[in-house]
This record gives sequence, structure tokens and C-alpha cells, in this order.
Amino acid sequence: MTPTPPPFTARLQAELEQFRRDGVYKRLNYLDSPQGPRAHMEGRGEVLILSSNNYLGLCNAPEVVEAGKRALDRFGAGTASVRFICGTFTIHRELEQALARLVGCEASLTSVSCWNANEGLCAALLGDQDVVISDQLNHASIIDAIRLAKAITKCRTAVYKHSDMADLETQLAAHRDARLKLVFTDGVFSMEGDIARLPDIVAVARRHDAIVAVDDSHATGVLGPTGRGTAEHFGMLGEVDIITSTLGKALGGAAGGFTAGPAALADYLTQRSRPQLFSNALPPTVAGSALAAVQHLEAHPELVGRVRDNATYFRDQLAGMGFKPLPGETPIVPVILGETAKAIEMSDLMLAEGVFVTGFGYPVVAQGHARVRCQVSAAHTREDLDFALAAFKKVGRSLGLV
Ligand code: PLP
Repeated sequence: MTPTPPPFTARLQAELEQFRRDGVYKRLNYLDSPQGPRAHMEGRGEVLILSSNNYLGLCNAPEVVEAGKRALDRFGAGTASVRFICGTFTIHRELEQALARLVGCEASLTSVSCWNANEGLCAALLGDQDVVISDQLNHASIIDAIRLAKAITKCRTAVYKHSDMADLETQLAAHRDARLKLVFTDGVFSMEGDIARLPDIVAVARRHDAIVAVDDSHATGVLGPTGRGTAEHFGMLGEVDIITSTLGKALGGAAGGFTAGPAALADYLTQRSRPQLFSNALPPTVAGSALAAVQHLEAHPELVGRVRDNATYFRDQLAGMGFKPLPGETPIVPVILGETAKAIEMSDLMLAEGVFVTGFGYPVVAQGHARVRCQVSAAHTREDLDFALAAFKKVGRSLGLV
């Protein structure tokens, strides 16, 4: 006889069933090899990866892996507590200096994720006399960071329409009496692949005596001639007040995040950011790998050109076949398909062809704008991209899309 589940698990099971009926249930695909342009997927064999943020191909770069092992040997697994209580490793200081240099800021402070960096920043910086104004399409980590800050500190919050400078101006004017006005935007918007209008945002912010924070998670290592991010892309290095970013994408892809800005900000967050004060630091092995990734990027800026060229080739070829990739300059290439079921079906059929590309639908993106989101890497060869394009053509024809 199967025992009756307690009410809370019965409720969860019912909701999970509903997710399945709605076609939004996520299945984990297990990889049995390092992440790379191709990887071994359990039950599938070798698949071409078109859904990872491994933009520079550094997840499995020998220097990055070796540096992680060396840091593990030198520092062990961790300190078994938070940084200010029980010591902080010298490799964290070295990494933080390298990250600040990379993104063109005076100082930086690492955390276990960019999610944590965003949460720690908003709640530490904002008080009840302050306001944060956020782009409508900002990443979930910024949205939740703002919700948390509002709950903790009673700061004011506002949202401006995606990349709409007139609306940003209106929101700033409506909060002209605030002590601190913080405009928070993604550098590259992860679902659309478009770039924030940074010169306009900074100009509007300056007119209203506001400061600007950019989450550059999809831009670090990717945008600008040498991969220093959205500010470098626009020739504005040093002009952004605060940059948050991840180590979990282009910079080695393990995990981790950071906040960069004036030295006083890094110091203030060390004093006041709750995730810093009450949660452990990055494991040294991750710090070691991320540091090697930054050094690798600095020594090989040509990787940035390669990912850009690959993205242009891929986008152009898809458009030539009759698909509708969103136009853009980043390695995020969303192909709009309409309804969620179509995006999921496309993703399943692509996997059957040996290409791992994920479908996204409502509520992650707007109703009717479901898509598969392709992400191109510097590590993809032309053969890899042509393999993926051939699968797109075959599956697209079978679905009557092209
Ligand atoms: N910010 C943006 C814009 C992201 O796209 C992501 C990850 O998808 C994050 C933050 C979260 O990064 P992490 O995995 O370091 O928490």
C-alpha cells in the first residue's frame, strides 16, 4: 500500500502535475563531461551546446581548470565561516583587484553569485529616503534584489519601460526629492540579447543627479573590443558608478559574482552587505579559476572578436533560411516562434538532432513571443555552427516554420 503523502507534498505534487499539463515542466539534462561547444549528455551521447553562457569557451580551458586545482591545494576547500570572522584568502584580494581592473572600476568585492551581489547591493545601499528605478526587462536577480531591499529598508521603487528614456526621465522626475536615486539596468538583456542604451541612461541619470548600476553578467568578457563589458562597448569605461557581474558565464562559468565601483562602495559592502556578513565567500578553487579566466581574457582579446564573428555568422545564416532571429550584436540569438508549445517542441526536436537549445515561453517572455534562445561561443567552430544550422533547417521544415 502506498502511504498517503502529507498535505504539503500532495499540494506540491498537484502543482507539478499542472506544470506538466501546461507544458512548462523543466526536465534536467545531465552532462557527463565538461561544458564545451559539445558535451556528453546522459542518454543522448555527444550534443552540440547552443544554450550555455560559456561565451569564451573557458569552462574547460586547461589554465582555468589547473588554476582551480592549484587554489584547492593551496587554500583547501574554504574557511568554514564568513570573511570578516575567520579570515579571507589572499586569492580573493587578487581576484577582486583583477576584476576591478577588467571592468574599469577602482575596487570590487566578490560574492558566491551575481544574484547575491545584486541582493547585497540594493539592501545595503538603499534606505527609506532613497529610490531605485529599474528597467522593466531586468533580470530576476535585480527584480528580487529590489523587492528584498524594499521589504527590509522601505526604499521606494519604480520601473521604467524597457530602454525607454522618456519613461526613465518621467520616473526620475517623480522621485526628485529622493536622497539617492539609483538607476539599475542589465548591460545585455538576457532574453532579448539587446544592449542597454548606456550613453542615454547615464546622460539622463546625470541630469537628475542619479547614479547608475549595470548588471553586466552577459557583457563581461563579451562586449567591447577587449571584453570589458557594456561600458567599453560604448567607450565609457570608468563612467558607470556601479557594475555587478557574474563569474558563472564568460569568466570560467563555475559560479560567483562581484560588485565593482569606488573603493568606498566595496568597503561599505564589506561592512554592511548582509550576504557578505552572514554567508561564506567564494570557494578558493572557484576564485582561482575565475582569476585565471580574467588573465586568459586579458592575454587573448581575440576571443572576443571570435564570439562576435560567430554570432554574426549564425544570426545571418538563420535569417537567410527564413527564421526570425532578433537582430543584435551579442551572442544571444533568440529565434521567435510564437506560442510556448512551439518553442518546447522545437527544442525537443533539436535535441533529437543532437543540438541542445532551450525553449522559453510565458511568463519568462511575453505571451506570443516564445522562442528558442541560441547562445554562441568563441569555442564553436564553423563546423559546429553549420551542424546546428543544418538541424535548424531540418526541424524548421518539419514544423513548417521555414
Ligand atoms: N544577472 C543577470 C543579468 C543574469 O543573466 C544572471 C544569470 O542568468 C544573473 C545575474 C545571475 O548570475 P549568478 O548565476 O552569478 O547568480
